[in-house]
Amino acid sequence: MRKNIPKSLQLKIWARDGWSCRYCGEAVFFAPTLKLLNELSPGHGYYHPNGKTGSMLPLFQMRWASVDHVTPFSKGGEDNEQNYVTACWGCNLKYRERTHEQGKPSPIEINMNAKKLGWDGLSSIYLKLSKKRDAWTALFNND
Ligand SMILES: [Zn+2]
Repeated sequence: MRKNIPKSLQLKIWARDGWSCRYCGEAVFFAPTLKLLNELSPGHGYYHPNGKTGSMLPLFQMRWASVDHVTPFSKGGEDNEQNYVTACWGCNLKYRERTHEQGKPSPIEINMNAKKLGWDGLSSIYLKLSKKRDAWTALFNND
């Protein structure tokens, strides 16, 4: 059975990959920050729970951070770090259930430029804006 990837491991993968999609190379965004921005300032299209087209800015809709199985779990791919890469939502939708034989590209190199710039997908803002303790703030605070 497919398990959810633990939040701590998702954060590790996104940080490892410089918060950039390993298929298209674009910067990705931490969805909980978008959700928080939407709660604090509704109606600007920062977030929609289902990423509904027209309810969310296309930039955020297609670029929220996800973790993709390079070899899909349904095709025998393993649940481990070696088989995980950061994918923007757009690439995740395009490639999630495909194998290489079905046209899924191999992941690109980690974007070291994004890492050098310190891009963090707006994840640090989450800690600054969040008024409540939750699983994410606990992870950022290492407690
Ligand atoms: Zn992408």
